[in-house]
Amino acid sequence: MDAKISVPRRGQVIVWLKSCPRCNGDLYEDTDIYGRYIACLQCGYYLTEAEEVVVRYASRRASRARRRESRDLLAAVAGG
Ligand SMILES: [Zn+2]
Repeated sequence: MDAKISVPRRGQVIVWLKSCPRCNGDLYEDTDIYGRYIACLQCGYYLTEAEEVVVRYASRRASRARRRESRDLLAAVAGG
């Protein structure tokens, strides 16, 4: 019997620099037993759901240019 425990992958930490609504510090996304959350590195503030949405939406717009690059990379990997 091998009991597999699904552990969220570490090493892929999402960070939003200077996005904390409280102290303008750096936010990071992490997961615990209750689910995902976004918290501040500097003041330890936990974002509300509404604030999370704002942060995620803002980052999605900002990373639109980058997405093209990663898609090319994916295509290269899949093609090979
Ligand atoms: Zn903060």
